[in-house]
Amino acid sequence: MAGVVAILGSGRCGSTVLGALLGAAPNAVFVGELRHVHRDRDRPCRCGDVQCAIWRAVADLLPRVRDRGGHRHLPEALWGEEADDSEAELVDGLAAAAGVPWVVDTSKTPAWALRMARRRPVLALTLQRSAPGLASAHAARRGLRPQPGRSAVSLAAHDVATGAALAAAGRVLGSTPLVWEDVARDPTAVVADLAARGGPDARGPLAHLMSGGALPIGHPKTANRMADAREFRLAPPEDVVPASYRAAVWAMEALRRWR
Ligand SMILES: [Zn+2]
Repeated sequence: MAGVVAILGSGRCGSTVLGALLGAAPNAVFVGELRHVHRDRDRPCRCGDVQCAIWRAVADLLPRVRDRGGHRHLPEALWGEEADDSEAELVDGLAAAAGVPWVVDTSKTPAWALRMARRRPVLALTLQRSAPGLASAHAARRGLRPQPGRSAVSLAAHDVATGAALAAAGRVLGSTPLVWEDVARDPTAVVADLAARGGPDARGPLAHLMSGGALPIGHPKTANRMADAREFRLAPPEDVVPASYRAAVWAMEALRRWR
């Protein structure tokens, strides 16, 4: 039975970069957001191979895997038990096709991670991004002005839901809180931690990345700007939030920390 590295966090939190790095380990495969495979089933795999063997191996399953990763699915993920376990078949099928024991999944929600953890080891990484960074990432994507206040509120809600769910479950092997800006500058600590815990060992790929090299993106089907590239490099985060937003951001961050 394959293990899952579940990356949790809000949208635009940097999960694709971290997922692709961990999935470059020789004992892991990065598959993007599994909770959306039903929606994304007709998209090509981002590895660039239209005949990607990994997704072909599970093609029959994709129409059956539903998105049961939303927050409203939390009670069901915590206490429910269903006969249909297409998600489990999907994870094991992907791992078997890739010939690796670990699948890296950036579905990001606690409900999905807990569902995964019903029958298999799950290493959870909770990725937080500072509100200014998150606001500028959202704004850049939509061509809008950054709204760091709104980002801070949604971050706080996400943190509370994630922490409560993982604590209530006691089912996940370990949850490591990470701040995206730190990870993007130097992912050494998180990579070493996962390797030490018997998870994906991405120390080799990381050394390549840190020396300026590029890594393949892996096998996400999910569409996002980052995953549209076939390879990636490590880029330190840019903070492009206008100065006029800073007062509101600082206040929201202070509230969030105080909680
Ligand atoms: Zn592929």
